[in-house]
Amino acid sequence: MKLTILGSGTSHGIPVMSCTCRVCASKDPHDTRMRASLYVKGNAGERVVIDTGPEFRLQAIRAGITHLDAVFLTHAHADHVHGLDDLRPLCYERPIPIYGSYDTLEELRERFSYVFKHTQKGGGKPRIIPRVTRKPVRIGALTFTPIPVQHGMLHILGWEIRETPGDTALYITDTNRISDTCFHLIHRPGILIIGGLRVRAHGTHFTFDEALSAAVKMKARKVFLTHICHEHSHQEIKKHCQTFRQGMPEISMEPAYDGLELEL
Ligand SMILES: [Zn+2]
Ligand SMILES: [Zn+2]
Ligand SMILES: [Zn+2]
Repeated sequence: MKLTILGSGTSHGIPVMSCTCRVCASKDPHDTRMRASLYVKGNAGERVVIDTGPEFRLQAIRAGITHLDAVFLTHAHADHVHGLDDLRPLCYERPIPIYGSYDTLEELRERFSYVFKHTQKGGGKPRIIPRVTRKPVRIGALTFTPIPVQHGMLHILGWEIRETPGDTALYITDTNRISDTCFHLIHRPGILIIGGLRVRAHGTHFTFDEALSAAVKMKARKVFLTHICHEHSHQEIKKHCQTFRQGMPEISMEPAYDGLELEL
C-alpha cells in the first residue's frame, strides 16, 4: 500500500493566521502544514482517506484523488471533519461510507444536519453513509482496525491498516494516553504515523517524546510525527528525533510533512 500525508499540522494549521514567528514565516516548504489527514492507496486500487479536515479539497487536488471507497474518522474535532462537505464531487456515482465511533458519527449528524434532511433537488450535499464500527472493516484487500485511544477526556480512534499479507501501518493523531489494553491490540507497525504536538507538555496531546516513547513500546520500525504545532521547525524536529533514537538503530524517527509518500 501507499500512504500520503495530506496534512501534518495541528488544529490551526501552519502558518498560523496573524503569527509572525520564525516557523510561520519560514521559507522551508516542510514548515507549511495543513490539518492532519492520511490518504491510503491499496495495491488493488482501494482508495481511502482518514479524516477530512478544512483543507480536504486542496489536499485531494494536490494528491490527485479522483475517487474514494471509504472515509475513516478519528474523531469529530473541527480540524478533522470540517472538510466533509467537499466529498461531494467524489460521491456522484455512489455514496461513500464514513466509518467512525458512535460519538463521532452522532456529532457529524448534528454539525452536518442538512446532509441528513430531505431537501430540494440540486444544491449539493455529499452522499455519505455513516457507519458506526467497533470492529475491523474490510475495504477490498485492506483491513482497517479501530484502536481506541484517549484524547483528554475523549475516547477517539486510531486506525491500523493491514494489506494481507504484510506489515501494518498505524495512524494515531490527537492522543495523550494509550492504555495498556489498547497497546495489546496493536501489532508491531511497519509504519507508525503518530501525533506529537511539540516539546512542551499539553493536556490532550502527546509531546514529541511521549509519542516517540509510545512508538518504542510498540516496536514500530518507521515512525513519523504528525499534528505538529508552530513551536519547532521541520529541521529542529528532525534533529530532536535523531537525538531521541540514539542507540536504537532498528527504528527510524522523523517528522512527517505535507505530501510525504510512504510505501509499505
Ligand atoms: Zn486535531
Ligand atoms: Zn507561528
Ligand atoms: Zn482533536
